[in-house]
Amino acid sequence: MPACWLSPEFLKIQRKNNMELHKLTLKQAAEGLRKKQFTSVELTQACLAQIKKRNKDLNAFITISEDRAIAEAKLADEMIENGQATELTGIPFSVKDSIATADIRSTAAAKILDNYTPVFEATVVEKIRKAGGVLIGKTNCDAFGHGASNENSMYGAVRNPYNLKKVSGGSSGGSAVSVADHMCFYSIAEDTGGSIRQPASFCGVFGLRPTYGRNSRYGVMPMASSLDVVGPMARTAEDLAIVLKYMAGTDKKDATTTVATVDNYDLIAEKEISAQGGSASGGKKSKLVVGIPKEYFEIEGINEEIKKNVLYQIEKFKEQGAEIVEVSLPHTKYAMAVYYIVVPSEDSSNMARLDGIRYGVREKKIKSLSELYEVSRANGFPEEVKRRILIGTYVLSAGYYEAYYKKAQKVRTLIKSDFEKVFKEVDILIAPTSPFPAFELGEKKSDPLQMYLADVMLSPAAVAGYPALSVPTGFTAEGLPIGTQIIGDKMKEGLLLQVGKFLTKKD
Ligand code: GLN
Repeated sequence: MPACWLSPEFLKIQRKNNMELHKLTLKQAAEGLRKKQFTSVELTQACLAQIKKRNKDLNAFITISEDRAIAEAKLADEMIENGQATELTGIPFSVKDSIATADIRSTAAAKILDNYTPVFEATVVEKIRKAGGVLIGKTNCDAFGHGASNENSMYGAVRNPYNLKKVSGGSSGGSAVSVADHMCFYSIAEDTGGSIRQPASFCGVFGLRPTYGRNSRYGVMPMASSLDVVGPMARTAEDLAIVLKYMAGTDKKDATTTVATVDNYDLIAEKEISAQGGSASGGKKSKLVVGIPKEYFEIEGINEEIKKNVLYQIEKFKEQGAEIVEVSLPHTKYAMAVYYIVVPSEDSSNMARLDGIRYGVREKKIKSLSELYEVSRANGFPEEVKRRILIGTYVLSAGYYEAYYKKAQKVRTLIKSDFEKVFKEVDILIAPTSPFPAFELGEKKSDPLQMYLADVMLSPAAVAGYPALSVPTGFTAEGLPIGTQIIGDKMKEGLLLQVGKFLTKKD
């Protein structure tokens, strides 16, 4: 980015055209607002104009909260005027539709919640709004987070901005596209088993799955409560760091949040990765130690261009003086199986509250209570959600519980101990985010097992509760984005962001 990017002349032209402001990074936009080079209303209008232009093709938003966004932008301009601004004040952001937003419809992309407008706010959204954030709309996703292509949304699939015939990834496809296509500056999404990282990699943006418990889950519609985390997506590592600083922290409404102090992620991300990078970030040795988990590279069918790109990232670490070691996480191969037993089990219980009585759409012309449940759920959930409910109910039923669920939990412990052991030796692990780039719409939709395989690189860290970041590190020859995944030790989000910044630094 040239130094003159925010020069007064440039901004005067921008302001006149009022069209390119949405292409700034969050950091640049915050700086421009603080220097009064433009207003939050102008910034918000630029994003709304982009949404109007592109959403009909991309389908990234289920609800666009235009009037409300403009009203919030006006308040933000007052905050700036009164010297009360934070870095997030006046900056438009989007929120995945499975996260509750007070007075704004939250459907989770399922028709059973088509008319649901929460009366309360998810803690993470509340924190950002208090900081002056401008909520521009709710993003499309696979219903309740079930999927890896965004084709399980009952509001239509989200399309990839790099190729409209391809999927956006899922489940947080709308969030990824809203950021990639400059419809807002960052998005708040949810990752149970890859839903932030995979769409981020398919759409060429950063997506962070924080450590389990780093951020409050209060107000996030639960999928699998022991895996769900909330995290940000943005166009740069620095922008992610800023957002995480405001989102993170303990919450008395969520007993699983950690009391660990919130780091100054943006200051950490600023630091250079160097031969001393590891120690600067509280690492294992004086050098940054990068682990190559061999099992991730042995996965069958891994796209050669992706493999090459990730190996090139490893070279960059070498050049920087980092120590590279091959490591083994022997139980990696069981992570998917564990995931697809534990997740549907928790899922079947979490989805039970959606019965047509307590929340959302209640079918009419019904003769009995059981028919009310049946018809409301039959019409309100897509196939994939029903499939998970059935698998979960089966797995938890008497006789199968010991054979499947209990065994899966035991293997989950082994997967966690693989990570514990390896992080005694290395600072970070590097692997692809996904074995393949964005695929064709419809290509895997009718084959759930193929769709589940999209999670192969993503479920291990999720099952074990470790943080992981997808970094946009290049493109295939076809022009589709490639993501490199960096997995860190618990609570080492700062180091992940620092590494993310290093890998995307322009030479
Ligand atoms: N592909 C995963 C699944 O369908 C992603 C879920 C998620 O992270 N919300 O379970």
